Order: sequence, then C-alpha cells, then structure tokens
Amino acid sequence: MKAAVYYGVRDVRVQDVDKPIAGPGEVVVRNVVALTCGTDLKMYLRGHPYVKPPIIIGHEFSGIVEEVGEDVTSVKVGDRVASTNSAPCGQCVYCKLGRFNLCENLSESIIGFSVNGAYAEYVNIPSRIVKHNLYRIPDNLEHEVAALLEPFSCVVRGHRIVQADAGEIVTIIGAGPIGLMHLMLAKRSNTEKTIIIDVSWDRLKFAEKLGADVIINANEEDPLERIKGETNGIGSDIVIEAVGKTDTWENAVKLARKGGRVLLFGGPPRGTTIMLDTYRIHYEEVRILGSFHFTPEDVLRAFKIIRSGKLPLKNLITSRSKIDNIVDVFERLKEGKEVKVALFF
Ligand SMILES: [Zn+2]
Ligand SMILES: [Zn+2]
Repeated sequence: MKAAVYYGVRDVRVQDVDKPIAGPGEVVVRNVVALTCGTDLKMYLRGHPYVKPPIIIGHEFSGIVEEVGEDVTSVKVGDRVASTNSAPCGQCVYCKLGRFNLCENLSESIIGFSVNGAYAEYVNIPSRIVKHNLYRIPDNLEHEVAALLEPFSCVVRGHRIVQADAGEIVTIIGAGPIGLMHLMLAKRSNTEKTIIIDVSWDRLKFAEKLGADVIINANEEDPLERIKGETNGIGSDIVIEAVGKTDTWENAVKLARKGGRVLLFGGPPRGTTIMLDTYRIHYEEVRILGSFHFTPEDVLRAFKIIRSGKLPLKNLITSRSKIDNIVDVFERLKEGKEVKVALFF
C-alpha cells in the first residue's frame, strides 16, 4: 500500500509498504481521507519526542472498515468509521481516578506517533482505541468532516473546562485550525462577542468569514489596548491561548478581566517557563486553566456535535491533495496558506 513514511526532520517519503493486518481486538481501516495537523507539520520541521522513525505519520482520518480482529463486535467490515489517535489504558492510577486524559500509558499506542499512522491507504487501530474511541459514522456525515474527531475532541475538552457562558466576551489567541474550532464553539455559547488575535491577515480574514466579531493583528496594534477598547476597559471574560508559545501564554493572562478565565490550550515545549504577575492571580482572581488531550467522554461529546452538523467544520479544509504531494503540502501549511488539507491516496 502507499504510505507517507517519516524518516526524520524534513525527510518524509511516499513509499510502498506492507498493508497492516488486524490483530486481536484491532481494526484495519481503508482510509478515505486523512487530514493535516499542526503537530504533523511540527514533526516534519522539528521532530517530536514520542516519534521513533521510520514511522507512518498522520493521525486524523476517516474510512471504511477493511478487516476486524478477533473479538471485535462494535464494528463490521464495510462500516464507515472515524476514531481518535489514542485511548487510555484503563489500568493506571490516573485511569482509576477517572482522569483518562492523564493516563500514564497514553503514549504507548498513539496512531501516527508511536504506532503507524494514517497517511496511508490503510491504518491499523490498536485495540484500546477500538474499545474506547472508534465510532461508526452516519451515511450523511462526510468522511473529511468525521476525520476532525481527534482535534475537535481536544477543543471540546478545553471548552468544557473554560465554560463560555451566555453574554460573555471570548478572546482567542491564534487563528489556526484549533483557534478556529474554539471560535466556532464560542459562537454557539451565546457569547456577546468573539475576538481573535493572530499575526497573519490571511488567517484573521478567514476567522472573520467564520464569524469572529473582532479581528486583531498583533503585528500592527497592541492587543491589550484594543481588548480594553472592546470590553469597556475591563478585559475579556475568557481568553483562550491556541498558539503554544510562552509569550502568547503570558499575554493571555494580561488580557483577562478581573475574575476572568484563561485557558492555556496550546502546548509550549517541555521545560519552558513563563512570568506571571502575582497580583493578577491573588488580588484579581484571574483563573488559569490548562487542558490536555481528551477523555472518552470528550470524544463522545465531540462526535455528537460533529454528527449534528451544526458547526461549519468543513470550512476548515481549505484544499485537497494526493498524498504523493505531502512535502509540498507541508510547505504550504508552513507558509500559512492553508488551514487544513485533506489528503487522498
Ligand atoms: Zn492532530
Ligand atoms: Zn491509564
């Protein structure tokens, strides 16, 4: 089968490799589509700590069940399906505490990171993912929208933590795919206003088309001053950081009103630290929240929202390409020319 194999930084090769075989509890899916993700691009440009090359990358996908392993009863050959790239082990202390996203064994079998991924004609779904996070999709749900299940589950978790409420102002830093999904959810929470900050006019204009009420280019104006102007001088009720850099983390804390909530969603590299104004936390009760990955409950909720068709998620896919052009696709993503690219085989 055809697959994009990652050999190291800036070295991805489209090759012919063996088709996977479903072991006990596993499912092999014939991919109809796979989607690009910021993490794949990061891996291509800088590497990733979980990834041991050579490996097939790609972890956002949807397709048709090709083969089911022993003991699989939840799906059958021919079913249209989507799944996430990971699932909790169910055995470790965090799983026992019900904190499934913090599972100590999460990294053991992550599709596209520690086991072969979805930039391929076929992908094998490990048994624990089959058990917890594999869904049959309805006939009227397009594969390329269903393939958003993994990133959208992360965003749904973030929203469940920050809880945007009616009449609030939500500011999002970063107008990439994750920031835009946060925008879509924020708009559905009867918020008063959504504000999005980025440094690319292309991305900001795209966010505006998706319904952002205010767009701010941080290269051209001071977000702090502008947010004050947009919030009667008090700051934003909610700030969501969806970039993953230490300076945007620091800025996120500055943009919230007293008593506001800051969701630090983007993940900066391990070992980095930020400076915090203690006054903001103590005297002004700004609440700082983190959000990592997702639990099976988040995935269920995300799946239900995707299935409902109420969000314009399909708009996030800005172009379509054959997997053979994966290197060009990464270059276009790097230049900010695309939000997400759908890959076919
Ligand atoms: Zn992803
Ligand atoms: Zn666990």
